[in-house]
Amino acid sequence: VAKETERVDGVVFDESMHRRAEVRLDIGSQLPRALERGELEIHYQPIVRVTDQRPVGFEALLRWRHPRHGLVSPCQFIPIAEETGLIVPIGTWVLAQALAQAQRWRTEVPGASGFRIAVNLSARQLTDPALCASVAGAIDRAGIDPSAVELEITESTLMKNVERSMATLTQLRGLGVGLSVDDFGTGYSSLSYLSRFPVTALKVDRSFVEELDGRDEHAGPIIAAVTMMASALGLDVVAEGVETATQLEKLDALNVGWAQGFLWAQPLQLDEVVPWLSTRMCTPGRRSDESSPSS
Ligand code: C2E
Ligand code: MG
Ligand code: MG
Ligand code: MG
Repeated sequence: VAKETERVDGVVFDESMHRRAEVRLDIGSQLPRALERGELEIHYQPIVRVTDQRPVGFEALLRWRHPRHGLVSPCQFIPIAEETGLIVPIGTWVLAQALAQAQRWRTEVPGASGFRIAVNLSARQLTDPALCASVAGAIDRAGIDPSAVELEITESTLMKNVERSMATLTQLRGLGVGLSVDDFGTGYSSLSYLSRFPVTALKVDRSFVEELDGRDEHAGPIIAAVTMMASALGLDVVAEGVETATQLEKLDALNVGWAQGFLWAQPLQLDEVVPWLSTRMCTPGRRSDESSPSS
């Protein structure tokens, strides 16, 4: 489809570029009020046990339902929220919502009493001296067992300031929550740091999972090395971004314990979660045949 183009200062813009620029501007100026306007919402993506594909919990993934731009991805506004510091109040809100919601499922949905909830933390939140108290408060108010809570921090965030990460992780771990290294394999952490950080799980980045049925014959051996190392260190392994049955079979053969991805479900809106669960809990092993990534 041909798009209208125009030349500005020697650069060709088309409609979609204009639109993207416009969206970026709106995001920057309107984000400060998105939370109070009730425009932020959390979607929940199931995490399953690889051996029987049973759901064991969810990862909370933030979205912004923008009045004009529709559902805005966290990749588009989390970086801005980081720069402005808004991620701190937003992160506090996400924690409160996700933990309270998870506790509701744990107490109300048959078979869900052991469910865990994973929440992402950003770099800016890790530097917040009030983080630990804020997490403790959210756990308290939700009335959830801290061992049902998993905090995800990307490998590159952890490696930004190793000493500070160590201190913060130790504090958080002291609350009894689990700590996952998110996007593992992309952040250049060394074996020595990994063994010193008090983390409990590694989330193998989607790029490795993707290559399992791609052309890179090293993906399998790399994931095998990760699972061996993880088991030596007593860490769980979660595979991110599983989309195909072939990937699942290979992950199973590689002894990866947990997985999440479009093969089971894309991140679900709140009201989709219980219906999704009711079709899965009683029929273990059934796979999604209606995965049509939106948003
Ligand atoms: P992440 O924590 O690594 O989350 C996984 C991302 O992969 C999610 O993107 C999820 O929708 C996507 N995904 C899951 N399964 C598949 C799959 O099978 N195929 C593909 N192609 N993608 C899959 P999403 O929701 O757009 O989130 C992007 C990132 O934004 C997250 O990456 C996380 O770093 C950040 N984020 C999301 N919510 C929050 C939040 O509440 N706080 C903070 N600080 N960051 C968040
Ligand atoms: Mg994550
Ligand atoms: Mg990840
Ligand atoms: Mg990732």
